[in-house]
Amino acid sequence: MRVVVTGGYGFIGSHVVRWLLQHVPTVEVVNLDVLTYAGNPANLADVAKDPRYRWMRVSVSDYAGVYPLFQSHPIDAVIHLAAESHVDRSIETGLPFVETNVVGTEVLLEIARKTGVGRFLQVSTDEVYGSLGPDGLFRETDPVRPNSPYAASKAAADLLVQAAHRTNGQNVVITRCSNNFGPYQFPEKLIPLWITNALEGKPWPIYGDGQNVRDWLYVEDHVEALWLALTRGQAGEIYNIGGHNEKTNWDVADALLSRLGLTRSVVVPVPDRAGHDRRYALDATKAEQELGWRPRHDWETALTATVAWYQTHRDWWQSIKQGTYQDDYRRRYPTL
Ligand code: NAD
Repeated sequence: MRVVVTGGYGFIGSHVVRWLLQHVPTVEVVNLDVLTYAGNPANLADVAKDPRYRWMRVSVSDYAGVYPLFQSHPIDAVIHLAAESHVDRSIETGLPFVETNVVGTEVLLEIARKTGVGRFLQVSTDEVYGSLGPDGLFRETDPVRPNSPYAASKAAADLLVQAAHRTNGQNVVITRCSNNFGPYQFPEKLIPLWITNALEGKPWPIYGDGQNVRDWLYVEDHVEALWLALTRGQAGEIYNIGGHNEKTNWDVADALLSRLGLTRSVVVPVPDRAGHDRRYALDATKAEQELGWRPRHDWETALTATVAWYQTHRDWWQSIKQGTYQDDYRRRYPTL
């Protein structure tokens, strides 16, 4: 089985590549990653020498650069994770988001159609549904109502994937997951930002009143869902992947503070993110019933393991939190 994983040097992509090599003996994995600021070869240092693995450095939006890979060997499946993924960056400029998330997805879909790829898995987000009030859950039949440029670019990509199925009969599946956490997450995202700031003795920025709600999903549970969606999902269908862990940002802060022996005094409110969605929560019944998936990790244990990982992998995040990271941080949180 030959699988192309796009964005394999990112947070979730690196877990996907490692999982495939560990669980599918006959697999060959090509990691198609251009290596943006968010990509990091250290995320896959442990599998770099596996003869079933290789990396190709090319942008998913580069049609001429990507095509030869698919032309040279039949590809059984594409797991498409490559993306610009940080909402705050998309508020600063949406252009790279359109280029990678929208154009890149269409490039891959067209190449997949022309070269007869067996299955195309689009890894999407609950953010495409927009924001919820205090009650209710997003279902797969809900319309997309994205609010940030990031969410809009992912929604546009999802629509192109659905169009490829309806118009051209392509064998596609879309998954929409909630907020992931775990090892190897780039430390601009909430949980690794706060853990690593704590380990550096720095304050924790919290947006607005800290009451925004997200449904947290441990990355290993997400990867299992992706494999099941790839191998058992119905062509043309969407599957929500949620962790059943709805938390306000203050809930997350308190859970981390107690693990790190700190108090709320380190948490500093900063001006709210523009257009900040209040609440996301997913109904994952369809994935549970049709794919036989359930998250296996509970929030408390997975969070403890995540804190421990960042505590024992200082070299990994310290090398990231230098250079341009510092510039981005100061621009994003000028009051800290
Ligand atoms: P990430 O930002 O950690 O990694 C993105 C990876 O894609 C990097 O390795 C980067 O180098 C690569 N990349 C970026 N642009 C590229 C391009 N033009 N061509 C080739 N490679 C490129 O992202 P992540 O958090 O691992 O997210 C992976 C996917 O999951 C994304 O599609 C994202 O929208 C989706 N998702 C993530 C979350 C989450 O909580 N992290 C939640 C919902 C959905």
